[in-house]
Amino acid sequence: MSITVVGSIAYDTVKTPFGQRERMLGGAAVHFAMAASFFDDVRVVGPVGDDFGDAQLDVLRTRGVDVSDIERIEGGKTFFWQGEYGWDLNSRDTLDTQLGVFEGFQPKLSDGSRSSDVLFLANIQPDLQRDVRGQLPHASFVALDSMNLWIDIARDSLVDAIESVDCLILNDAELRQLTGKPNLVAAAREILSWNPPADGAGERRGPSVIVAKQGEYGAALVTRDGFFALPAYPLESVIDPTGAGDTFAGGLIGYIAAHPHEELSDGLLRRAMAHATVLASFNVEEFGTERIERLTGREIVARISELHAMTQFSGAPLQLRG
Ligand code: AMP
Repeated sequence: MSITVVGSIAYDTVKTPFGQRERMLGGAAVHFAMAASFFDDVRVVGPVGDDFGDAQLDVLRTRGVDVSDIERIEGGKTFFWQGEYGWDLNSRDTLDTQLGVFEGFQPKLSDGSRSSDVLFLANIQPDLQRDVRGQLPHASFVALDSMNLWIDIARDSLVDAIESVDCLILNDAELRQLTGKPNLVAAAREILSWNPPADGAGERRGPSVIVAKQGEYGAALVTRDGFFALPAYPLESVIDPTGAGDTFAGGLIGYIAAHPHEELSDGLLRRAMAHATVLASFNVEEFGTERIERLTGREIVARISELHAMTQFSGAPLQLRG
């Protein structure tokens, strides 16, 4: 299957306690595409300004990503984000966001991008997410990410967008904010209960898979009949968490897209969660896309088996007192 992703393609200026970078390649769609490219064909949809260089496009091309639907807007400025992290890398301050060419952007998808079976609506204005969703009515699996900003200023549009997808990927705090439920599992179950079919007949709209990202604590998966969670891969050195969430999504959705003939079972979702966790762990080892640019399939496989070993335990039956 092939994957289409729409979302920010950005220049990021980032400062962490371990260093800083000015106007490096970033954006949700970029981090997602780099990770998903290890699993399947990926097409990126989104605008850039004429300040966006060919060298940046080459980073994506080198990973085999199709960039033909990246639209260069003459005289426009590429989306810019500036953030700073303190010692607690789980939280960050956004110092500047300049939408640039995303203001007034009308997504025009080529036939190729419209024909993908799998669609990822990366974090961007929810009206844009709905527009692109409408252009792929027959996609077999659609996932969406968002952020607190859109819950604050465009909640109704975001809820409509969420109701049109199969899988919702959010930070745990955003899931709580969206539902008003203080408990993560209860928040996920609330979204899973949205839009029951009228009179119990017909298809239920809305996501059947909820993934809660929990930063350095890992991620949880909630479905109507299951729960699964993984810790983050334990790294001794984390340099820059920017894009970890999108890289996680790229691993998750990429793995699902690479198994087109397998039912979307609990087993498939768990393996996808493991690949997502491993991809995200590589992303945070260096700034921006630096580490993923050098990553190899062999390194991914080795870390998957380490994660497998460290998250297994036996049933250990014991006759308990009481
Ligand atoms: P993450 O760390 O996974 O949340 O993703 C960070 C990436 O999202 C950065 O590369 C930014 O360029 C991008 N980003 C930050 N704020 C926004 C926003 N408001 N809309 C779209 N993308 C954003």
